[in-house]
Amino acid sequence: MSNKVVVVGSSNTDMIIKLERIPKRGETIIGGDFATAAGGKGANQAVAAARAGADVSFVARVGNDMFGSQAMEGFVSDGINVEHVEMDPGTPSGVALIFVDERGENSIAVASGANAKLTPADVREARDVIAGADILVVQLETPVETVRAAVELAADNGVRVVLNPAPAQTLGEDILRHGSVLTPNETQAALLSGIEVTDVVDAEKAAAKLVSMGPEAIVVTLGARGAFVFESDRREVVPGFQVDAVDTTAAGDVFNGALAVALAGGAPLVEATRFANAGAALSVTKLGAQPSAPTRAEVDELIRSNP
Ligand code: ADP
Repeated sequence: MSNKVVVVGSSNTDMIIKLERIPKRGETIIGGDFATAAGGKGANQAVAAARAGADVSFVARVGNDMFGSQAMEGFVSDGINVEHVEMDPGTPSGVALIFVDERGENSIAVASGANAKLTPADVREARDVIAGADILVVQLETPVETVRAAVELAADNGVRVVLNPAPAQTLGEDILRHGSVLTPNETQAALLSGIEVTDVVDAEKAAAKLVSMGPEAIVVTLGARGAFVFESDRREVVPGFQVDAVDTTAAGDVFNGALAVALAGGAPLVEATRFANAGAALSVTKLGAQPSAPTRAEVDELIRSNP
């Protein structure tokens, strides 16, 4: 079975405070626990894909500082190929400040640091690994021209692309048309399609609009409800797995990493989405981004016990 996944994207160190509720503007709340954890959408997706069983290469930039070194150590210990992770000498590593409330909902501020320095030239340096991959995964925490270079390189080499349009921002059809699977959450689907998404009916309308903008297929993630799959003649909700949510940070990232692994292995989109729902559900039961990404055995067990 082929399982080569390349992730081009961001790496951050997350600084997390658990609080009764997320502070309002001008408000100070005392009493939460503090933790740091490896994060960044690209790195989260790479780690999720590696733990879910893929042979993963990561294309990224971190700072030449303590956070960058720790991130590198983490990638290596998860078996990720870091040949194309540069330690930028002149820029700090990316960081994210995260508040998590009692229900596991979050609020996040990011300082991009070295992620903003990831260039199309960095992507071209990684041409061989991208061209040899089964799936390329990209998100939007690095410059948009870098994302464009990556998806174009994939398209030129017949590599399928999981395009995760997160964090929410508008995208041109020049990028969207290279998405083999576009994976917005409800907010991102609404922003890209111009159609408000609050339920499955809206998700279908938004997905239909998005497909007309170029991607081959759309998977709208719906939080605990699972995900809505829209491809050629299929429109289907793939239900989520019931778990006790502790922290939904990186649920979307684990979803995308796991989706990429299943697609790289040849699974049809609905089956891959079920695998991704299982991985993401397990991730919400634990605090932190990369620490919460489950192993292949854990994902397989959740699927087996919920036939
Ligand atoms: P994001 O975290 O990017 O906003 P979602 O909230 O849609 O994205 O979550 C992504 C995926 O994570 C969902 O499609 C689902 O598979 C899973 N998920 C999220 N929240 C829960 C939850 N409370 N219980 C089970 N699965 C969840």
